[in-house]
Amino acid sequence: MKKALVLGAGGFIAHHIQRKLKSEGYWVRSVDLKFPRFDNTDSDDFVVGDLRDKNFVDSVVDMYFDEVYQLAADMGGAGYIFTGENDADVMTNSSLINLNVLDACHKRNIKRVFYSSSACIYPEYNQMDPDNPKCSEDSAYPAAPDSEYGWEKLFSERMFFAYNRNKSMQSRVARYHNVYGPLGSWNDGKEKAPAALCRKVALANDGGSIEVWGDGLQTRSFLFIDDCVDATIKMTRSDFEGPVNIGSEEMISINNLAKLIIKISGKDVKINNIPGPEGVRGRNSDNKIIEKELNWKPSYTLEQGVKKTYKWICEQTKLDNA
Ligand code: NAD
Repeated sequence: MKKALVLGAGGFIAHHIQRKLKSEGYWVRSVDLKFPRFDNTDSDDFVVGDLRDKNFVDSVVDMYFDEVYQLAADMGGAGYIFTGENDADVMTNSSLINLNVLDACHKRNIKRVFYSSSACIYPEYNQMDPDNPKCSEDSAYPAAPDSEYGWEKLFSERMFFAYNRNKSMQSRVARYHNVYGPLGSWNDGKEKAPAALCRKVALANDGGSIEVWGDGLQTRSFLFIDDCVDATIKMTRSDFEGPVNIGSEEMISINNLAKLIIKISGKDVKINNIPGPEGVRGRNSDNKIIEKELNWKPSYTLEQGVKKTYKWICEQTKLDNA
């Protein structure tokens, strides 16, 4: 039986990855500071602990694993990453986790470690035009991410590749672009735009309004969670070390995303643009390399994914009020 270690499995994406691995018949050990918030875990061995602690990391990496998924990080949406208030924690916590995990995996002769980097590593200067952002993998340098979160990801990417070069590891590095879907943060200050807007619309009265940060003309693309899980596992098992974008090329402005959610809700809701943290002006995944190397494309349209997410968040708001 193959064994996998999933780090950050109390969080959104890694919980979905862990479920998929279980459905494939893997024996899975999961690690996080906390259990998943919105779902039970079917992990074979869920260990609660702090991956910043080297001794703890050595204790959970106490045997060989065929696949390791390293998704644990101190992260959140624009309200967490772009205010600057959490910079020191974000940089310290995530670097410590990555340093510990690489060292422990190397000591156990583990080769295949997936690392989730981010579109936030891309330079701000290529993302000033909301209609024409550039996020091809080779555009990462000269580096100029617009957040310390992005700088930490870039540093850690380089560390994973250095272990590949110097210590015979076979890490796989992908840059996620805005992953969303059921079981993700929606009301704890770490939610991203799709979940935040779904919550606002779900709670809005018919004939009311919602607040949207910025002028709403900033653009993004969003990847539905099931597509993210598929691409991640495919990448981990492939011969391609990356870095590669895992995202959708269906770019939309934030106001148009809000309008899509309002349409799905069937309500009459107005948009009120207010000042707020918004990040770069434009960002879109560039999928040329992933299509060529992994023959992968997202299968969900934005509308299909948002429908599922809106339905789940509506249910959550009702439970919350019960
Ligand atoms: P998440 O916050 O839901 O999950 C991260 C998990 O890491 C959390 O459950 C958290 O408790 C855990 N964690 C943090 N510090 C820890 C520690 N010291 N010890 C043990 N566990 C710890 O985030 P997510 O959206 O599932 O993202 C997963 C990964 O993908 C992260 O590395 C993130 O940076 C990256 N990423 C996500 C997106 C996205 O759109 N969600 C985009 C780009 C990159």
